[in-house]
This record gives sequence, C-alpha cells and structure tokens, in this order.
Amino acid sequence: MSQRIKIKALLQSTQTDVEVTVKGWVRTFRNNQFIALNDGSTNNNLQIVVDFQNTDEALLKRITTGAAISATGMLVASLGKGQTVEVKATSIEILGDSDPEKYPLQPKKHSLEFLREIAHLRFRTQTFGAIFRVRNSLAFAVHQFFQNQGFVYLHTPVITASDAEGAGEAFKVTNFDLANPPRTEDGQIDYKQDFFGKATNLTVSGQLEGELGAMALSDIYTFGPTFRAENSNTTRHLAEFWMIEPEMAFYDLQDNMNLAEGLLKYVISYALEHNREDLEFLNQRLLEEEKNKPQNERSEMTLIEKLEFCLNNDFERLTYTEAIDILINSTPNKKKKFQYPVEGWGTDLQSEHERYLVEKHFKKPVILTDYPKEIKAFYMRQNDDGKTVGAMDILFPGIGEIVGGSQREERLDRLEQRMDEMGIPKEELWWYLDTRRFGACPHSGFGLGFERLVLFVTGMGNIRDVIPFPRFPKNAEF
Ligand code: ATP
Ligand code: MN
Repeated sequence: MSQRIKIKALLQSTQTDVEVTVKGWVRTFRNNQFIALNDGSTNNNLQIVVDFQNTDEALLKRITTGAAISATGMLVASLGKGQTVEVKATSIEILGDSDPEKYPLQPKKHSLEFLREIAHLRFRTQTFGAIFRVRNSLAFAVHQFFQNQGFVYLHTPVITASDAEGAGEAFKVTNFDLANPPRTEDGQIDYKQDFFGKATNLTVSGQLEGELGAMALSDIYTFGPTFRAENSNTTRHLAEFWMIEPEMAFYDLQDNMNLAEGLLKYVISYALEHNREDLEFLNQRLLEEEKNKPQNERSEMTLIEKLEFCLNNDFERLTYTEAIDILINSTPNKKKKFQYPVEGWGTDLQSEHERYLVEKHFKKPVILTDYPKEIKAFYMRQNDDGKTVGAMDILFPGIGEIVGGSQREERLDRLEQRMDEMGIPKEELWWYLDTRRFGACPHSGFGLGFERLVLFVTGMGNIRDVIPFPRFPKNAEF
C-alpha cells in the first residue's frame, strides 16, 4: 500500500504518473464522478476522478459531503480547469460516512453567525481553514522573532493572587462549596481556608511576573491565555484571549516602540510569505463581502494591499497631547459626529477616536505615547512634566488598540507614591517592589493581543471568528 501523501505536498509535486494515496474529507461530489477532497493541509481541494461505471453503486452513494475517505490512484495532469493535477482513482474506501440529510455544513455559503454555532465543524470550511492556518503561522512567527533575538520564553502563572491593574475584571478561582463557603467571625468569606489560602483569580496579564524574569534574563516574552471578565460584547473583546507580553531590561520607550513595530512587521511578512493562498482566499472573501456595502464604506485597499502597506511604511509616532489637538480640531468633532465629543486634554480615547486617527487622518498604523497618568496603570514610568507617563499604544486600522505598553517605573519612591495615590496595596506586591530595591534598571514592555493581530491579518470583522472556541458573555460552548 502506498503511503498517504498530504494534498498540499501533492499539489506542489511535479512528478505525475505515479500512484498516490490521499485521505481527507469530501467537500463536494459532482456528476457521480468528481470528488473535491480537502485534508486541511491547504486551502485548495484535490480533484479525484472516479471511474463511476466500474464502481459499485452503493459505494458511490456513500461519497457525500463531509465523509472521510481514502483514495488511491494515479496522479495525472488535469484536463479540467482550476487544477494542474488530479487523481484518477483506482480504489476508494469510505473511512467515515456523513449523512447528507443531517450534516449541518452544506456545500453552499453559510453565515459566520451560523458557523459560530457549529464551531466544532467550522474548521471544515475554506474560510476557517484559512484563518486557523494563518493563526498558526502567526504564532510560530512570534516565537521565531523573539527566539532569533535571544529572548527567553517565560511561562507566567495562570492562577494568581494579584489583579495586575486592580481593574476588577478577574475571574475568581476557588475550591469552596459556593452554597456554603466558610466565613470569618464578621461574616466575610474566609479565603484563608480556600485552596491557596488566599483569594485567587485567573490572570489578566503576565506582565508583573514577566518583569521579574526580565530583571535577570534581560529579555523575556510570555505567550499564553489571558482572562478578563469584562462584560463587553464587542467585536474586539473576548473573555479568554492570548497575549504576547515581552519585557526587556535596559529598554527605554523608543526601544520598546521599535521592538513592537519590528515584531508586527515580521509576523505580517511571515504570513504573506508562508500563507499566500490562504491570504488570497481571504482577500477575495473580503472583496465579495464588501460588494454588499455602499461605495463610501468599502475599504480603499484590499486585504493584501493593506498588509503590504503596513510593512512598507513607518508607523506614525506622536504624543497623546498632539493627538488630542488633532481630534479637537477634526471635522467629526466639530460637526459633533463623535459619540463621545473630544473636549480637552485628559480624556481617555474611545475606539472611534483611535480609528479616526488611524483610518482617516494618518491612514496608517499609529503609535501614541505619553498619556496622562490618570488614565494609565500605576507601573508606567512618570515623565518629568508630572502629568504624563511613558506609555505607548499602537493603533491599527479596523482594530483600534492592538498593543498597549510602557516604560516601567523603576524608581522605588515614585512607584510607591503612585501606588498610594491609586490605592494599590503595596504589601500584596512586595515581590514586585523588591525588583526596585535590588538592582533596579530602566526597563520596558508591552502586551500584544494575539487575536487582534489575527483579526488584522485575516481581515475578519469579529474576534469570535479568529479563535477556535471563543469565550464571551453567556457562551462557553464546546
Ligand atoms: P481595550 O481598551 O481595547 O479594552 P486594554 O487597554 O484593556 O484594551 P491592555 O490591558 O493594554 O488592553 O491589554 C493589552 C492588549 O491585549 C490590548 O492592546 C489588546 O490587543 C489585547 N486585549 C485587551 N483586552 C482584550 C480582550 N478582552 N480580548 C482580546 N484582546 C484583548
Ligand atoms: Mn480593556
């Protein structure tokens, strides 16, 4: 028996007139003769030609959309359009039947909303096959980018006792009988008796632990799941998402921005190089989708043009203060078109403002720096003006914020003062403060939301479609 060969390799091979065995799932079966077979190795299907006159009728009936089959035959140059080679089957074996009456995926266009309800099967569509191969490449490229530069991949804990920013969006982790938790004398839940002896939650960020690693290993990055119980039903938020968080000793804010811009460009160019077919398919998908939109809402660039544009242009860098000036004087602000009018310095930017800057004003990715300290986290390095901190957010077209980072405050007195002002308990973060006591140094880091990156690269519109099994309010199916 000949060895099974994956369809991707087979379509690339130049040697015809050899016997091959392929295995995969039937996408369509036309005229009792042509099977379009896909095994997930590529977006392209392989055509299998069945000699129906010499094939058992009962077997032909079992070649249905969704069925798993093994086919052996001759690889030959194809006469038909759309493929260079095809397999003339000499034997076909049904490995797993798929009842066409019941199989939810019909060979027609299904809505993304419907496919989300059958997420266990949506991998079998061209769109989701392409998305998850691109996602895989991006993850690999992230590791490659950092490993090439000597970064250490550090695994920070998933269960923590600190809520990194005190934002109160953490999921609790407990072993208590919820109906009857032990209580202290004054009626509070007694977490001393809980599994870890204290209140714990799922991590909202690995940053604080990442910084500890950087204070010895110089350059580290995390890449793991992150959890936020934010009840925001948006197309850009998940309750469980993957975050990449590098932390670098001896980096200032400029170095930090350069690294982030370099990372984004590296992984995008990796996908363009290694996932060309998938991206061309997604490019086409987007063009079709946009046909249904009014002219003025269609994008000026195709997906691939947008990705290439991002590679070939420097990101625009400006301060929060400069951005506020632009926004105050912008046409939508003057015409009161923003849902949240920009009135002055100090307000947090809403995603409509971020998108105006990126999509309308600069028409390219933007890095905003030096935000007011009041709207940023306690650990960001305080600037000499006493008003701003060394923060940097990267804003992408169609996405808004994709990266949030900063130079970290390394000066113990400044850090403690800010924690006091913001009501962050210093006792609980004694270990974090220790790094400022022993061998503190300037350092920086950022967080890149992996799904927002996948959204950008695939051109999809909803973050729930770029993670295999999305978790969001009222949904934890599969
Ligand atoms: P946003 O304002 O969009 O909610 P954030 O300020 O809460 O973002 P950070 O805490 O700085 O974000 O997190 C770092 C990065 O993680 C963000 O830039 C974004 O790419 C990503 N991110 C944050 N929250 C989510 C979420 N709920 N789902 C998916 N990605 C997220
Ligand atoms: Mn948020």
